[in-house]
Amino acid sequence: MCKICNVTLDHIRRQTITDHLESTHHLEQAAKRKCEVAAGVTPKRQTTLAGCKERQTAASAAKEDLVVDLVRAFMSANIPMEKLDNPQLRNFISANVKGGGDIPQANWLREHYVPKVFEKQQAELISKLAGKKVAVIADVAGRYVVNVLLQPLDAFDSDGSKAVLVNTEFLQTVNNVTIAQLIIRTLTSVNIDFNNVLALISDNAAYMKKCFTDGLHGLLPRHVLGTHSVACWRGVSWCF
Ligand SMILES: [Zn+2]
Repeated sequence: MCKICNVTLDHIRRQTITDHLESTHHLEQAAKRKCEVAAGVTPKRQTTLAGCKERQTAASAAKEDLVVDLVRAFMSANIPMEKLDNPQLRNFISANVKGGGDIPQANWLREHYVPKVFEKQQAELISKLAGKKVAVIADVAGRYVVNVLLQPLDAFDSDGSKAVLVNTEFLQTVNNVTIAQLIIRTLTSVNIDFNNVLALISDNAAYMKKCFTDGLHGLLPRHVLGTHSVACWRGVSWCF
């Protein structure tokens, strides 16, 4: 296809193309196009079907990214989603943000985009913790809410020194069995190798000790049990 003359050419023989390139018609068209380009006129050309589809997919992917990032930013700043239903804010976004004209309503964002943010975050977490040696921190807040945090133990990783909250569950009952199950669920959900768990940290409650010594001992062969009082997990020095 000669894009300048907008004609199809026989591509099997090279001579056909050479002849066309030397033809008066083509040279005229090429000169005309050159003038147009110099004058800043973009040539109108019909899009191919494939090109059209490609552009559409890229545009919808860009929109998806924009909405996910927006929801993530709102969640991170602790701003309720319904603020995005405010007409003034919507006008501002649609006027000033590229592709911001059709941000969905808060309801739709909560239903469809919050889970996407979670998935994205989870994927980042998994890749961040992949292959790392970790300490598991089980923290019972209140009577039934249990937070499970993982602390990467690679001493040379400047970014990896912070413990990350991986799971929060509301348990019906808190005892050695439910805690052990929760820890296993959590480790499996973020793909941590059981052999990479080097420490288990919790408060000094009897069921926690029982959970670690009876429940998890066989599964996590390399772990050492610590309590908040003997190992300051917010601090730093680990030696096993
Ligand atoms: Zn031509």
